[in-house]
Amino acid sequence: MAPFSIEDLRSATDPAWFERGRRYHSQGRVRSLRLRPGGITAVVEGTRPYRVELVWGRGLPATVCSCPLGRDGAPWCKHAVAVALAWLASGAEEPEPSASPPDLRGFLSAQEPEWLVEQLLELAEEDPAVRARLEGAAGADAAVDTARADLEQAIADYAPDPDGWGPEGATGERHLAPAIDTLDVLAGYGYGAEVVELAREAAALFDDVHGGHEDGLSDRLHELAEG
Ligand SMILES: [Zn+2]
Repeated sequence: MAPFSIEDLRSATDPAWFERGRRYHSQGRVRSLRLRPGGITAVVEGTRPYRVELVWGRGLPATVCSCPLGRDGAPWCKHAVAVALAWLASGAEEPEPSASPPDLRGFLSAQEPEWLVEQLLELAEEDPAVRARLEGAAGADAAVDTARADLEQAIADYAPDPDGWGPEGATGERHLAPAIDTLDVLAGYGYGAEVVELAREAAALFDDVHGGHEDGLSDRLHELAEG
């Protein structure tokens, strides 16, 4: 069953555009109507061919059209109306849902606390940054030691990009960047003084290991070290 009807479309659109869209549809100007994950696409023969996309949601789809009106952000130009009508007339097979991200918050909110605890403990076991954050949230001073060990390992693993200033493309960035983020999180949990001390040690270690190389990540360490 279609999520919208001709009447829904008529009442949501400008009467003049609806009428022109209806005419375009009845003149057979809608070509190449295709179902795509999450919506449909088509080409409409107007003054020149325009590409139209209808993006599925609740109720009326969202529209994208390459005509001047559509590019200006008008939601229902005559081309979009024509495509919606053509789709309704085609027997209205629904597009597959798109691969959009699932509603994780909704899913997690519905789970039992015991299961959530198990998941978090497993993640903490695998990832010291997660462990340090959870320990910090619990007010456990072990958080600082966990974060220190993680940061030292991340600095050792880091291979700076000798040409680029930014950390993009540097190997090991995927470990070092979140290890530094963890310091910010711990500071937010009230470990501000410990974080400054830890960042000082880490900045010195970084300079030592990487021979004074400077990039975005070493900068962040030095900034945190200044408190
Ligand atoms: Zn258009």
